[in-house]
Amino acid sequence: MAYYCLRCKKTVEIKTGYPSVRCPYCGYRALKKERPTVVVKKLKAE
Ligand SMILES: [Zn+2]
Repeated sequence: MAYYCLRCKKTVEIKTGYPSVRCPYCGYRALKKERPTVVVKKLKAE
């Protein structure tokens, strides 16, 4: 399962049995599930 850190935006692989969902890079404890469609809609305001 892939997550991404809300703080440093890095992708974090959470293995099964991991005691807590926590970013190994910055220690932030707010990770969000990385959706298959992480498409940022870029609408040109022109
Ligand atoms: Zn992080």
